[in-house]
Amino acid sequence: MGIEIYDNPKEFWKAVLGQVELKMSPMVFKSVITRINIGDLSDTQIEVICEDEFVKKNLENKYIKTVNEAIQRIAGKKLKVIIKVGHTKNPSANNHEFGPLFSSEQKTEVLLEEKRHKGNISPNFTFSNFIAGKSNNLAYAIATAVSEKPGELYNPVFIYSGVGLGKTHLLHAIGNRILETKPGMKVIYTTGEAFMNELIESIQSGGGKGKYSTNQFRNKFRKADVFLIDDVQFIIGKQSTQEEFFHTFNALYMAQKQIVITSDRPPKEFSHIEERITSRFSSGIIADIQAPDVEMRTAILRTKRDLSGDIISNEVLNLIAEKVFTNTRELEGAYLQVVTYAKANGLNLTKEVATKVLGRNIKEAPTKNINVNDILKAVCTYYAVKTQDVKGKRRTKEIVVPRQVAMYLIKEVTDMPFMSIGDFLGGRDHTTIMYGVEKIEGEIAHTGKIAQDVVNVKQLIFAD
Ligand code: ADP
Ligand code: MG
Repeated sequence: MGIEIYDNPKEFWKAVLGQVELKMSPMVFKSVITRINIGDLSDTQIEVICEDEFVKKNLENKYIKTVNEAIQRIAGKKLKVIIKVGHTKNPSANNHEFGPLFSSEQKTEVLLEEKRHKGNISPNFTFSNFIAGKSNNLAYAIATAVSEKPGELYNPVFIYSGVGLGKTHLLHAIGNRILETKPGMKVIYTTGEAFMNELIESIQSGGGKGKYSTNQFRNKFRKADVFLIDDVQFIIGKQSTQEEFFHTFNALYMAQKQIVITSDRPPKEFSHIEERITSRFSSGIIADIQAPDVEMRTAILRTKRDLSGDIISNEVLNLIAEKVFTNTRELEGAYLQVVTYAKANGLNLTKEVATKVLGRNIKEAPTKNINVNDILKAVCTYYAVKTQDVKGKRRTKEIVVPRQVAMYLIKEVTDMPFMSIGDFLGGRDHTTIMYGVEKIEGEIAHTGKIAQDVVNVKQLIFAD
């Protein structure tokens, strides 16, 4: 390659796009890649400029490898890639101008993806992968009904259950359904904790000068047509947070916007939230979700298998459904562990293999007497961090993940109360521990990496 390619960024980028286009679906290419442009180019580095945060996130999370490879190929060597957001001198494509190559379905899908992103809605949880049954019939019926007529039938909707029984899934399913069928509506999903943190951030950045003012905060939530708030029990602490939530709630409610709230307990069992707020929670309709029975558990696992294409027999599915009865998240976690274990070890997934993997999970099974220190030690060894850091205050990712894995494993293996786990891990509040445990449970249900970490740490803990 001659030097001249670095003098002509536009041509260079065109060549890169040519490579990238071969490797991905036209839809992704159109919705993400054409909204990226080239900035400065030298023979050591390339600046890649994304139209907005949405594009940048997508690029970083999903497509950077493909783009890197194409750059390397065209440059003939590795270049340092710097990703930015901003305007470019040579715009290559306009975001909503779709070429004639795109069907109307594809256009809709692209726009939908953006709306989901803005409203914090995960495409993974829909009504089509949600199993309705005895334990969640009422909640399911209400959720589908309000998706048809948001704000008109039941308001607010309050759904409660123990962990891992499908509350978050239902909220996203409502969001997805409404975005698909009522494109004009603005849907926002948030959690009690995120709401609180965002409010605090907006107050701290203060006076309109900071990057996020309280007015912006208010506008964001009060402009929603559908407000989905998950785990409302985490709106805790200061009076002012509750006050703000109360006002948001009222503003939406008065404007007949649909509000759906979830929690780990019914409204009357809130002791730390003002009564005038909890009585609003009860003013619409309330539904609870129970743990699924064995038939429902089997149905959930079969759907999961059929959607994922994993190879696993009905016999093994039945075994998992019988053994794991606590909640759906643990059920999915067990499924994932069994599948991952068999894959990692190149084994046929027989009943014996499944029994072995599940056996390690079941609480009465440990052959040695395991205490919290053993667990913490195993976590620290695995992640190569220090115990005092895990117990300490630092909040960098390198330390937060091991800390939450420790919370999760201590809870799972010893079933120690949240409060005591908090004491043990450096005097943390029990809600922090609950949150950490839930977080890891969620990760186990959805991603390979942390699920695999947990399996590996467990092997360390139970190694003789
Ligand atoms: P919660 O918010 O109540 O703690 P989640 O909604 O996170 O529970 O559910 C935990 C996991 O179980 C998720 O992966 C979810 O998709 C799955 N799940 C829960 N209930 C069902 C159901 N009825 N059908 C299919 N999957 C379910
Ligand atoms: Mg949840």
